[in-house]
Amino acid sequence: MRNIVAGNWKSNKLINEGQELINEIAKGLPSLDSTDVIIAPPTPYLAHYSRNFVATNGIQFAAQQCSANSMGAHTGEFTASMLTSCGIQHVIIGHSERRDRFGENLDVVRAKVNEAIAAGLHVLLCCGESLDVRESGNHFDLISTQLSDAFQQVKVAQMSQITVAYEPVWAIGTGVTASAEQAQEMHRFIRERIEEWYTVKTAESTRILYGGSCKPSNANEIFSQPDVNGGLIGGAALDAKSFLSLIEASETSQKHSQ
Ligand code: PEP
Repeated sequence: MRNIVAGNWKSNKLINEGQELINEIAKGLPSLDSTDVIIAPPTPYLAHYSRNFVATNGIQFAAQQCSANSMGAHTGEFTASMLTSCGIQHVIIGHSERRDRFGENLDVVRAKVNEAIAAGLHVLLCCGESLDVRESGNHFDLISTQLSDAFQQVKVAQMSQITVAYEPVWAIGTGVTASAEQAQEMHRFIRERIEEWYTVKTAESTRILYGGSCKPSNANEIFSQPDVNGGLIGGAALDAKSFLSLIEASETSQKHSQ
């Protein structure tokens, strides 16, 4: 199974700065034998980038979220089908910043997942626990709830449209990374839940990414864990050199696992 290295730019970069960054990344890309590279720039640039970089060796684009509604009178919203109509193939849903700061509760995340699946998008579904939850020992229960709720209407055949991103909230943007053991333990747990809710084959073929202060200095160790299939990258995706070295780390971990 191919890894994914996805860069989430959040609300960073003006359109030309982003263009320069993509050009630099494209120039330095190794041959992508076993890694899919996805970039999630700010939404206003998506249609432009996807048109202009369509020939760029292998970089794909994602939206950082989409509407929980389909088309209609929802001022300011953009639907999943609008993204596919712009040539976008991927969408991040349930990022902790959206859950915490923009009121995206379980119902909203589930509705967004259903909209995205219906529009044919590939969903990078984020889950993750706060430090309080981890310290109280309830992290496995919380992750199980976040995922089982989001998957409520997702049929087994649609699971090929889902990638899970485990992002402990205490590690996002903090410089603190989960240890490789903590990441592997949670990724294994998630894979076992997918097996329980779906099938062994689905569990084996679902990619589970790690996110949270992933950087060149820790990527090799994290990506080489057996249940880690790449990363969702925030800060380190804003610099071509560090993003490229994460892509290299993914390629290396895949070669070693063969
Ligand atoms: C993220 O926000 O998805 C993320 C992983 O951020 P960072 O890499 O900056 O911790």
